[in-house]
Amino acid sequence: MDAPPTPLQRILILGGGTAGWMSAISLAQAWAGRNIEITLLESDAIGIIGVGEGSTPKMRRFFQKLGIADAEWMPHCNGTYKCGIRFPGWSTRPGFESYYHPFFSISDDQYIRALYQNMLLRQRNIDAHVLPDTFFLSNYLAKNSRAPLPDATSNYLADYAFHFDARLIGDFLKTRSLELGVKHLVGTVTAVKQAETGEITGVETPQHGFVAADFFIDCSGFASVLICKTLQVPFKSYKDFLFNDRAVALPTPHPDPAVLRSETLSTALKCGWVWKIPLTNRIGNGYVYSSEHIDADTAERELRAHLRLNNVDQTEARHLKMRVGRLEKAWEKNCLAIGLAQGFIEPLEATALMIVQDTIENFITQYEASGFTSHDQAAFNRRINLIFDSIKDYVFMHYKLNTRVDTPYWVACRESTPLSDSVAQILEVWDNGGDLLGEINRQSAQMSYSPTSWFCILSGMGRYPRKPPRKPRRDMPVTDPASARQSCLEMLKHFPDHRQVVEGMHAARL
Ligand SMILES: Cc1cc2nc3c(=O)[nH]c(=O)nc-3n(C[C@H](O)[C@H](O)[C@H](O)COP(=O)(O)OP(=O)(O)OC[C@H]3O[C@@H](n4cnc5c(N)ncnc54)[C@H](O)[C@@H]3O)c2cc1C
Repeated sequence: MDAPPTPLQRILILGGGTAGWMSAISLAQAWAGRNIEITLLESDAIGIIGVGEGSTPKMRRFFQKLGIADAEWMPHCNGTYKCGIRFPGWSTRPGFESYYHPFFSISDDQYIRALYQNMLLRQRNIDAHVLPDTFFLSNYLAKNSRAPLPDATSNYLADYAFHFDARLIGDFLKTRSLELGVKHLVGTVTAVKQAETGEITGVETPQHGFVAADFFIDCSGFASVLICKTLQVPFKSYKDFLFNDRAVALPTPHPDPAVLRSETLSTALKCGWVWKIPLTNRIGNGYVYSSEHIDADTAERELRAHLRLNNVDQTEARHLKMRVGRLEKAWEKNCLAIGLAQGFIEPLEATALMIVQDTIENFITQYEASGFTSHDQAAFNRRINLIFDSIKDYVFMHYKLNTRVDTPYWVACRESTPLSDSVAQILEVWDNGGDLLGEINRQSAQMSYSPTSWFCILSGMGRYPRKPPRKPRRDMPVTDPASARQSCLEMLKHFPDHRQVVEGMHAARL
């Protein structure tokens, strides 16, 4: 049957960063054969932000949907596997000085239940082991620099995400998008034209004159050329919740080229935290901090000291500003904003590209279902706002739960921030030893993170009664950490060395 008639004939994507090319390839694939012309316009004078090197597991589905195997794209992008995120230095509670946010699968089910059971006992001040790290296979994979790909002799599974070079991933997606028929223009928008209704009709560029379209996707980064500057959609800052508004990034070589870690390390420093992301050829590092608490030079010095770079190291650092918050509406009139133009939650959980993916997928589904009209625009905007706000709540929880007292920054993060209703409810239930699983399930319609992720953060940061715990009675179902450890170490034998796996991919490509 022929596709229904559609008024949509030309889509213009403004911006050629990761968000622009992820949008281009997704639309080109979803709407192939519909006779819709997709053009991506980007400015070589402005360039892309060129950071953003970690993903969530959702990115697996992005490539699966496109029919692109890991071995096809990862070698192009110096890509590596990511089994989870480790958070040293956020909590000072004894036994909880570092915790691991795992990616998990059905192979972890038994010990997720065991962790939950132990947590319930510990909340009642019974001595039970509750550091999440012990209970998840992915922690052992990461610690032992393994790839999350089990050998053929086992039935084990491990979920995973990726690390990659932010520029190279854009190049890869660009090549594939062009193969799918996306048109590419290089030029800088100097003016935007609107109809009397306010709808955008086209953009002016010195290089291509007036470029017209029916629908516009604003992927112009923090500049938000179409959605904010033209359509004046208000921006809602998260500043009250999340103080960090700057970053300084600096790559370093691998200390031991034979070892390739399969985790992101997110270590708390004096006024923020530093990411450490292993790519095949280098390590990406960056200090995310609050400019109200530390200036750029001091932050750079602290980063260099943390990385143990001596005074002769000449590697130039990149200083970046971050606009943290979201638009009140991602879709306004005939314009949808995606990526940094739409909003940004600081990169602690590497969620930005996941939101890009969510936004595109939701838009494609809903726009099609509404017959290519803006019929359900308000519902779409509500859904996207919920995704943003719920991720913000989860990221915020890291700061709220910190117990550091070494700088005013950490004290303010814990004590001078408001609580959203959702976070207030979760903390109340947890602190009173209530049914957290029930509470999170109750809130599930507005949640982006699973109950397991919430258990891991609350338990992993050690938010428990501070009294010395009592010995468990014999009949109490306490899981011995040794049994979880042993079971995970047994599974670990079936997972290969990470460096060897990615080098194998590179070799197969040559
Ligand atoms: C410090 C930091 C760390 C991050 N870490 C992560 C992470 O680990 N994981 C993650 O998922 N995300 C992360 N992000 C976010 C990630 O970098 C972005 O989501 C991603 O790169 C997409 O950016 P973008 O395409 O929206 O914008 P950009 O890359 O900034 O692209 C904007 C595009 O718009 C074009 N443009 C702008 N103005 C005009 C104009 N007038 N005319 C024509 N073209 C124009 C530019 O030329 C460019 O092509 C991080 C961000 C920061 C700041």
